[in-house]
Amino acid sequence: MNNKFYSLPDLPYGYKDLEPYISEEQLSIHHQKHHQAYVNGANTVFERLEKSRKEGSDLDMKATLKELSFHVSGHVLHSLFWQNMASSKKEGGGEPSGRLGEIINDEFGSFDRFKQEFTKAAISIEGSGWVALTLDKESGRPMIMQIEKHNLNLYPGFSLLLVFDFWEHAYYLDYKNEKNKFIEAFWQIVNWEAADKRLNRFDDKLAHS
Ligand code: MN
Repeated sequence: MNNKFYSLPDLPYGYKDLEPYISEEQLSIHHQKHHQAYVNGANTVFERLEKSRKEGSDLDMKATLKELSFHVSGHVLHSLFWQNMASSKKEGGGEPSGRLGEIINDEFGSFDRFKQEFTKAAISIEGSGWVALTLDKESGRPMIMQIEKHNLNLYPGFSLLLVFDFWEHAYYLDYKNEKNKFIEAFWQIVNWEAADKRLNRFDDKLAHS
């Protein structure tokens, strides 16, 4: 396997280090079995995509992308989840300080209020899911986001390079029910230079972070 495939990241602490909050058994299974399954699942879809592209064979894109997003999201979210916990003996718990503490206080009024909203967001998730604290770069606001099931064809945290609005309101006056004509039209007007500029901006950020 080359580095275009995912691999299971090491934990930034030992399996016992989050006790008594998370047991060694729970953390080991979660990391070694569950997270590993997302890594394997994503890599399997990548292999299938590569094979199909090489052969020029057809794929069920809807099913494939759903499966890919499920595994990629699982991998991305778990990788971050491990990072945003710390050994209870060391630096875990407490309240955020610095800039993060400031923007949380600014937006939510207090850390307690933030904690309350975040907790309620977690508890009110339907079925399985995640809660995330995100930053909207445009307004500078920290925002709480529920990620239901994590397989809603999203790659969380990925920077957007190019988007295409395929809601009916974007094409219906022009193309009515012939929506394939709208995507054909889009390929005639797509601005790749703008997308490339965005890519360079993100690349830059990655290189310096
Ligand atoms: Mn999990």
